[in-house]
Amino acid sequence: MSRKDDPAIKAALLYLRSVNIQNPEYAEIKRILEEGANGCYVKSSMNERQYLLIKLIEECAEVAQRATKALTFGLYEKQAQGPSETKTGAAELNNNERLAQEFDDLIAVSEMLNEHLAIRLSTRDERAKEAKKDKIRKYMAYSREIGTLE
Ligand SMILES: [Mg+2]
Repeated sequence: MSRKDDPAIKAALLYLRSVNIQNPEYAEIKRILEEGANGCYVKSSMNERQYLLIKLIEECAEVAQRATKALTFGLYEKQAQGPSETKTGAAELNNNERLAQEFDDLIAVSEMLNEHLAIRLSTRDERAKEAKKDKIRKYMAYSREIGTLE
């Protein structure tokens, strides 16, 4: 959509014409509305990278949601009590399967997003993964030490 097609810009230009402003600022106001303050159109729509970042956030939230359901109701519960019972097929999956499904969604979005990133999201950096696992093990040991973990 070009700036001139933007409904808000169209409405503003129409208003300016209807009130018949005849001062020196009119031309400048009109130019800014049509071209943007710096002479370039500031798009109100997003690009693919922005769109995929939103999808990444969405899938991270869905993974988080599924993890909380698994903790709340157990990995093998099939969410038979909730409204999703009415969804076709959805009630057939247990929380472990749903968590796996959302993780697949997250990986799919990250692969698409990688086409738009200078530094790719990757699960192949074994050194980084081992460093993270070591850090988690370290804090798990501390949690055991203070009695918050079995
Ligand atoms: Mg999903």
